Amino acid sequence: MKVVTNISQFPEFEIDEVALKKAIIKRFSKIKKPLYINIDKNLIRNYGVYRRDWITELKRFPTSWTRQFIFEIKDNRDIYHRINLSYSFMHNAFHNRSKSNKDTATWHIRKYFDFDSQKYPYIYLFFLLAHELQHAQQYDSQHLKSYKDSKGYIQYRKSNWKEYEDVESNHNIFEFDAEVASIKKTLKLYESYYE
Ligand SMILES: [Zn+2]
Repeated sequence: MKVVTNISQFPEFEIDEVALKKAIIKRFSKIKKPLYINIDKNLIRNYGVYRRDWITELKRFPTSWTRQFIFEIKDNRDIYHRINLSYSFMHNAFHNRSKSNKDTATWHIRKYFDFDSQKYPYIYLFFLLAHELQHAQQYDSQHLKSYKDSKGYIQYRKSNWKEYEDVESNHNIFEFDAEVASIKKTLKLYESYYE
């Protein structure tokens, strides 16, 4: 998987882009299609959004895309994964902790993880990314532009993971899978980021 991000345009978050890419590639090795992670100032209602997208829909390419990345997408039948992360929620996580604690109250991250509060911004980032990356993993193996839910790949089925039945979106198998992925993979991403 090739990963491109626009994170270097936002030095206020002090995210090590090379380390982040390395962690994603290691912990989500099932994803083969190119992945674009975009911090988005216009995304204000959601923390993050996953979209299975195709290059032919774009009028122009993001400035962070390299020629090699564009070729890689073309080699994958024009399809790539796009994850948009809300700038404002991320800004709260990094620079307005009390606001962010309210934003994420329903995530129950302190129930799942024991972490140094200084590391909260990264727990926020990896918890959110693990969810959106799991959606990318669900969609990765289908090559046609029209996606069939029935063929989506589900790693964590509710019947096997009953201890997580109280996760927030447990009514939908894809959301359940993504939420369990957040619980299972946040610390793995975190460890790989600092390796
Ligand atoms: Zn989701």
